[in-house]
Amino acid sequence: MVKHSSRIELKQSAYKNNVNFIRKKIGDHAILSSVVKANAYGHGIETFVPMAEKCGIKHFSVASAFEAEEVHNVCSPETEIMIMGIMYEEDIPWAIENDVSFFVYNYDRLPKTLAAAKKIGKPAKVHIEVETGANRTGMQKSEFPKTLNFLLKNKEHVIFEGLCTHFGGAESRSNDFKIEMQHKRYKDFLKQCRDKKITPNLKHIACSAAALAMPDTVYDMVRIGVAQYGFWPSPEIYYAHLNEVNKKADAALKRIFSWKTDIMDIRDVQQGEFIGYGTAFQATHQMKIAVMPLGYSNGYPRALSNRGHVLIDGKKAPIVGLINMNLFMVDISHIPVAKIGDEVVLIGRQNNNVINVSSFTNSTQLLNNEMLSRLPSVIPRTVVR
Ligand SMILES: *Cc1c(COP(=O)(O)O)cnc(C)c1O
Repeated sequence: MVKHSSRIELKQSAYKNNVNFIRKKIGDHAILSSVVKANAYGHGIETFVPMAEKCGIKHFSVASAFEAEEVHNVCSPETEIMIMGIMYEEDIPWAIENDVSFFVYNYDRLPKTLAAAKKIGKPAKVHIEVETGANRTGMQKSEFPKTLNFLLKNKEHVIFEGLCTHFGGAESRSNDFKIEMQHKRYKDFLKQCRDKKITPNLKHIACSAAALAMPDTVYDMVRIGVAQYGFWPSPEIYYAHLNEVNKKADAALKRIFSWKTDIMDIRDVQQGEFIGYGTAFQATHQMKIAVMPLGYSNGYPRALSNRGHVLIDGKKAPIVGLINMNLFMVDISHIPVAKIGDEVVLIGRQNNNVINVSSFTNSTQLLNNEMLSRLPSVIPRTVVR
């Protein structure tokens, strides 16, 4: 097989560290569901899921039936998969047959699920997602009583696997009033369950920010995305942790991701010459330039034109000119030892230098999540220790 123009490495020891840290925060009894939507936040479902299983993860959450199938194809048979978002009606039987549980956010889906479960002869596992104030998906209060009646009546065929909601913005303290209101409304739904003497198998509402900073949101399961990949959900959540442990800094969460390529070509450019498309960069002196074999079509943000840098021989090499569709150039005038084929770090560490996703995204206005999740799935991912 021929080589791709760049590669992504996942560091298993860093991931294990993150899982241990999150586990310590949430306590022993709650299930840690690993959220692997958006191709595991760009880390690559196919490589990430088996690695996570080796680190003790037994439950994965995805945004669609399509992603559930991707996880299903690579996970071990006893691993649980939960669909939090879109699943078309015609895919309900697939989910039931493969023991994949799924969110239900309006009543109409329940009779359809029941019919499918009866036809297949196997119960369906549903998580009732309730509307608490994020106003995206979530069952309205008005539909909840008949939902509980339905679940009571059909419990052999439709298992009440979960009662859940999602916070809209738990990473920011300025949203505290909203998050508290959402939690309170969730408890109202729970009370209705108690009144009807029906109990969901799993109560779950916490994402990374909530699980790390609001212990009372940890019920039977937490749905952890960004933190497991080694990112604090926000500076505020990080500072809250520092306060709690009384430290000035704490590398409790470690990045597991690095992105690498190789020097494709090297050339000398005379003073006054332009580099790449247009006139965006003019050589200010006689320069040595290295050509990178990737560009914006490979997920490298075009907004880094003339401003980002890469690591070569442990040193920062500034980007010169525009990021092209599948090439860009960097200045290596100060790195005379660099040669064609040398390793280039786009994100990650090389010797004593590091390029973080955040240093990347600060200058481009991209969110960390946005930048990572846009990395093309065709880039090969491998696990390193
Ligand atoms: C994405 C998502 C999560 C995980 O959020 P993080 O902030 O990345 O931990 C949890 N629950 C739902 C419903 C989601 O869509």
